[in-house]
Amino acid sequence: ETIGENLRRTVARFSAREALVARAQGVRMTYAELWEETTRVARGLVAFGVSRGDRVGLWSPNRHEWVVLQYAAARVGAILVNINPAYRTAELEYALRRAGVSVLFAARRFRATSYADMIAEVRPRLPELRLVMILDDDWKMIVDAGGHVSDDALAEREAELSFDDPINIQYTSGTTGFPKGATLSHHNVLNNGFFVGEALGYGPDDRVCIPVPFYHCFGMVMGNLACTSHGATMVIPGEAFDPLAVLETVEAEKCTSLYGVPTMFIAELDHPRFLDFDLRSLRTGIMAGSPCPVEVMRRVVSQMHMREVTICYGMTETSPVSTQTAKDDPEDKRVGTVGRVHPHVEVKIVDPQTGVVLPRGLPGELCTRGYGVMLGYWGDEAATRASIDAGRWMHTGDLATIDAEGYVNIVGRIKDMIIRGGENVYPREIEEYLHLHPRVSEAQVIGVPSAKYGEEIMAWVRPKPGEAVTEAELVAFCKGKIATFKIPRYWKVVDEFPMTVTGKVQKYRMREIAVNELG
Ligand code: ATP
Ligand code: MG
Repeated sequence: ETIGENLRRTVARFSAREALVARAQGVRMTYAELWEETTRVARGLVAFGVSRGDRVGLWSPNRHEWVVLQYAAARVGAILVNINPAYRTAELEYALRRAGVSVLFAARRFRATSYADMIAEVRPRLPELRLVMILDDDWKMIVDAGGHVSDDALAEREAELSFDDPINIQYTSGTTGFPKGATLSHHNVLNNGFFVGEALGYGPDDRVCIPVPFYHCFGMVMGNLACTSHGATMVIPGEAFDPLAVLETVEAEKCTSLYGVPTMFIAELDHPRFLDFDLRSLRTGIMAGSPCPVEVMRRVVSQMHMREVTICYGMTETSPVSTQTAKDDPEDKRVGTVGRVHPHVEVKIVDPQTGVVLPRGLPGELCTRGYGVMLGYWGDEAATRASIDAGRWMHTGDLATIDAEGYVNIVGRIKDMIIRGGENVYPREIEEYLHLHPRVSEAQVIGVPSAKYGEEIMAWVRPKPGEAVTEAELVAFCKGKIATFKIPRYWKVVDEFPMTVTGKVQKYRMREIAVNELG
C-alpha cells in the first residue's frame, strides 16, 4: 500500500472526524477536508511539472501545510526532502544541493529569521532549484494551478506508484555530528507509523499532541502517519516547542496522547504554571529520542496522568521505531527499558569489533533488521555500506543489552562511552543517579581528555527553576552511592545544554566546550 492509498482508506472510514488542528494558525480540518486539500495540492504539484522521483524540499516549522505537503508529495511520487528549520545558508545550500532539490516549499520565516532572504542568497548557486514557493503566500497559487489538472491525471500518476518507491529523504538529528540523509520508502514509513499507532491503541477518538518537529521522523511518522493510519487527530500546539503552549493545548484540545523527547517532558513538568492545567484527558504518549530517565518517566505517569505512556527506541535510518514498551509491561520494564522488539523487526547484540553475537545480558552494539531499514543514505554508497551489512542488518552505533524476557536496555552511544583508566563508564548510569537529586532538573555526563586516565568524567547539571546546587553537594550526594571511579571529576552548573532542533543534547559540542574551558 502507498501512503496515498492508506489515507484514502482512512478518509473513507472517518471522513467527518477531525484530522488536523493547527492551533497557532487557527486551522482545523476533517479527514474529508484533508483529503480535498491534499488532492488540490497534489494536482498543483503535477501542474508545476513535479514528476515521480523529483526531490521536493520542505523547509518549515510545524504548520498545517507541512502535513498537507507530506501527503500530497507522496501521492504524486515525489521524494520529500525534510529540511531542518534551524538551518542557515551554508547548511541549506548543502542540503538542497546534496538531494538535487528542484522545487522548494519554505515558510516565510521561523522565529526572527527570514527564510526568504536566505533562499535568495543561495539560489543563484543552485541551478537545479527551478521553483521556490513561500508558505503561506504562494499556497493559493499551487491550489489554483491544480485546478487545471484533472482528477484523471492525478489518478493516473497514483496508479503508477509502487509502495517501495523512495518518497522521503529524512535527515538524522545531528546529535553526533553532521546530519545524514536517510532515503525511505512508502513501505518503510507507513508501516512504522501503523505499528506505532497499534502499540498505542489509537483509534478515531484519539487526539495526539505533537510538539516534536515534523521535519524529523518522530513528528512525521510516529506522529502524522500513526494518526492518519488510525483515523486519530493530529494536534499541533505551535511552530516550535514551547512548554506552556503544550500544556495549554493538551487541556484545550482534550488530547489523549502527548509526545516528546525527555527534555521536553522535563520542561513541561518543571514549568511554573504546570499545576494550572487539567491534563486528565491524557492516556498515553511517547517518550523517545534519547535516554529516558526513570525518574522523569515516573513523573510523567503520575503527574501527567499518562498511565499508558510508552518509550520507543529507534533511529531515522530504521523509519524509525524498532522497540517499544507496552502498557501491560511490568512497571520496572515500562519505565526502565525501551521495551521489546516491534512486529516484523529483528534485533541482535554483537561485539562491535568482531560482529559476533554476544550472550544474552552482555552489552554490545545493537543491530536491527526488517521492513523499516532505509533504502540507503542518499547519494552516499560508502556510508550506506558502512552501516547496513550484507545480511541487511543496520548497525545502530548504540550499545544495548537484551534481558531474558527480551526487553532491550540502551546503555548509551558507542561514541559517548567513557574509557577512564581502562574502565568502561556509561554516562547513562551516572545521569540516572544524578536525576534522583531533589534539586537537579537535568544532568548530562561526558568524557573529557585526561593525561593520567585517558578520559575523565565531567557532569553538567541544570538545577530546577529557582534552585541552586554546588559541586561539593553533588560530590557528597554521590559518595558511597556510586563507585568512586564513576564520581565525576569535573562539574559544571548550567542553564541549558547545546541541543539539536529535535531537542537532543549534543554531547560532542559539550565536549568541545569543556575542552576549551578546561584548557
Ligand atoms: P545523528 O545520527 O545525526 O548523530 P541521531 O542519531 O540523534 O543523530 P536520530 O536518528 O534522530 O539521530 O536518533 C536516533 C538515535 O537516538 C539512536 O541511535 C539512539 O542513540 C537515540 N535514541 C532514540 N531513542 C532512544 C531511547 N529511547 N533511549 C536512548 N536512546 C535513544
Ligand atoms: Mg544516528
